[in-house]
Amino acid sequence: EKVNLVDLTREIFERLEKVAQDRSVSLKIKPDKLESALVIADKQRIDQVMVNLISNAIKYNNEGGKVVVSIEEEKKSFSISVKDNGPGISQEHLARIFERFYRVDKSRSRDSGGTGLGLAIVKHILNAHGTSITVMSQVGKGTVFSFKLAK
Ligand code: ATP
Ligand code: MG
Repeated sequence: EKVNLVDLTREIFERLEKVAQDRSVSLKIKPDKLESALVIADKQRIDQVMVNLISNAIKYNNEGGKVVVSIEEEKKSFSISVKDNGPGISQEHLARIFERFYRVDKSRSRDSGGTGLGLAIVKHILNAHGTSITVMSQVGKGTVFSFKLAK
C-alpha cells in the first residue's frame, strides 16, 4: 500500500491539535512546501507509529515547546524524524525506553497517564516493515526519533 506521509502527518496534527494547544506546543512539518512523500507501508500501522511519536513529543515537551516532523527524500526511501525541544532523556533511560511498560519518571509520568507501551509498539511495527527506529536525546535540549521507510 502506498502512503503519503505528508497527508498522514497533517491528518494526525489535526487530530492532536487540541492536546497540543492545551500545552501551547506548536506542530510543524519540514520542509513546509513538501506536498507528497509516498512510501510502501501499512497505513494504519504507520499512523499508529506517527501518533505515538508525536503524542510523546507533545506530552513530554515543555509548555510552549515545538514539535517538528521532518521528511527527507533519499534514493530508495524517505527518512522521517520527530523532534521536540523538551527535557530530553538521560543516557541510562534511553537504552530502555523501547521496552514494554518502561517509563522514565514513574511518579511524574503517572500523571500524564500512559502505560509505557507506545514505543514498544512503534519499534515492533517498524521492525515488521523491515526497518528500525533510532533515538538521539540531549538532556535539557530535546529528543529526536528517526526511521526510514521504503519508496
Ligand atoms: P503510552 O505511550 O503507552 O501511553 P508512555 O508514553 O509512557 O505510555 P512510551 O511512549 O513507550 O510510553 O514512552 C516511554 C517513556 O519514554 C515515557 O514514559 C517517557 O518517560 C519517555 N519518553 C518518550 N518519548 C519522550 C520524549 N519525546 N521526550 C522525553 N521523554 C520521552
Ligand atoms: Mg507514549
